Amino acid sequence: MDLEETKKHLEEIYTCNRTRCGFCIQKCPVYEVTSLETYSSRGRNLVARGIIEGSVEVDEEVLKLANTCLLCGYCEKNCALDNTQIFRDFKADLVESGMTDQYLEGGVDSVEKYGNPFKKSPESREIPELKSNPKSKTLLYGGCVYSISQQETLKLIAELLGDYKYLGKDEPCCMNILWDSGHKKDFKKKMKAVAKVLNDANVDELVTGCPTCFRTYVEEFGEILKPKPIHFITKLHQMVKDGKLKFESKEKVKVTWHDPCHLGRFGGIIDEPREIIKSVKNIDFVEMENSGLDSHCCGAGSGMLMSYPEIAIEISKKRYREAEAAGAEIILTFCPTCELTLGRGGDTIARDEMDFDDDDFDFDAKPDPKIKVMNLLQWLVTLKK
Ligand code: SF4
Ligand code: SF4
Repeated sequence: MDLEETKKHLEEIYTCNRTRCGFCIQKCPVYEVTSLETYSSRGRNLVARGIIEGSVEVDEEVLKLANTCLLCGYCEKNCALDNTQIFRDFKADLVESGMTDQYLEGGVDSVEKYGNPFKKSPESREIPELKSNPKSKTLLYGGCVYSISQQETLKLIAELLGDYKYLGKDEPCCMNILWDSGHKKDFKKKMKAVAKVLNDANVDELVTGCPTCFRTYVEEFGEILKPKPIHFITKLHQMVKDGKLKFESKEKVKVTWHDPCHLGRFGGIIDEPREIIKSVKNIDFVEMENSGLDSHCCGAGSGMLMSYPEIAIEISKKRYREAEAAGAEIILTFCPTCELTLGRGGDTIARDEMDFDDDDFDFDAKPDPKIKVMNLLQWLVTLKK
């Protein structure tokens, strides 16, 4: 197999193979739960070299090790190499040769047919409560998850923005699933059509609550996108700083913040959510062991919840345990996928702790996780203003 895209990184791959320093391995969330070096950056780079030099055959295991990188960027922080880009190109070569992950392909096909990864009609993005102002210079960009399955958060964002344009069924997907799953050529082609719709909206800024859409528009679209991508947290932070929003918790509560990889490590938005949370009266803010630039992925990066849910849930359980160790009662975040995944991690831990051998065990009982996982904005509206 000709790894055309991966070969562009040959110097980096050889540098890694020669040094074998291993700074990437410590705390790689996938390595932590699998203990397999081939699932770390150092291992993947060695396998990539083996394929390029002809000593390693491409098989299902190679496909698995390519798709078990969360693209979370944790290892890049400890390494001079652009590992996530190497692995994206590695996946792109596998896709070009016809090797694809069946579960990720379900999402990719859905984007082709329905314009979103969830097999929902474009009309499912129409939300009657959102009053679009066609003249507004701010585009409220929901993203597929908030627009289709978590509309309550999107409505809250809209309420605080006040004046916005919303495209509803005409809103395009950011196509990140194509990018992350290795459909690089297709992504580059579709990116132009997506940018055209957003540029034609004639707005100055695109405000979204989804960190993945935000990162995709900032990093991958770059200059072809005219409106400036902004994550809603930046707006919320400004409102709090200006004294327009004030909150107080009725009860003393310990909260922590989970940095979504696309918001923190990739987007540099680390202080803003913490300042928003710390502005709330009557709360204790606690940090998890891995936070800010060192934050750990929730487990769902690059579609892992679809392709390898057992690995994703093990990682989310570890992250949940970190919040537990910090003494948190609530994990706050602002990413629909992190919320879902950490919530599942908490549910799994709670279910594992249920005592099925107890004679009085209630088989109708649902798992009752100790820590709540909440969207920051959803949490703020529950507080006293
Ligand atoms: S990926 Fe980077 S940190 Fe890891 S072994 Fe290679 S050079 Fe070292
Ligand atoms: S990007 Fe994340 S999951 Fe992938 S190798 Fe690096 S630390 Fe591990």
